[in-house]
Amino acid sequence: MNDFSPAVMKTLLKQAGLRATPARIATLTLLSQSSKPLSHAEVSAELKNLGVDKTTVYRNLNDLVGANLLRRAELGDHIWRFELANHHDEACSLHPHFVCIDCGDVFCIDEKYLQARDFQLENQNVTVKEILVRGHCNNC
Ligand SMILES: [Zn+2]
Ligand SMILES: [Zn+2]
Repeated sequence: MNDFSPAVMKTLLKQAGLRATPARIATLTLLSQSSKPLSHAEVSAELKNLGVDKTTVYRNLNDLVGANLLRRAELGDHIWRFELANHHDEACSLHPHFVCIDCGDVFCIDEKYLQARDFQLENQNVTVKEILVRGHCNNC
């Protein structure tokens, strides 16, 4: 959700040991501009006009997750969605996601409202992987 330029994306990729291909830069740029995590299908649809095929998108998403540049979220509908990871603060990457019960729309919620560390409760040895907030969106 930070505003990254292509030059910054390039540096991030190189630091992560990945080649800074145009498709990878386009993937990171797209996700940096999105207010919600995007599925493989959504990323593919956006990058199609750049001539990036679905298989390449799939492989790049997995490579970027492996390099900790992206994180994957599973929001209860068995669809992996991808968004930029926050390298500086892993807990901050675990911001909550809102999922609309009616239309299935998803968006990111600022972690100031609810943080993964709120769940580090006494005597409870839990690891929070997702925080889901379900309700009705503005359009429903
Ligand atoms: Zn809705
Ligand atoms: Zn998010």
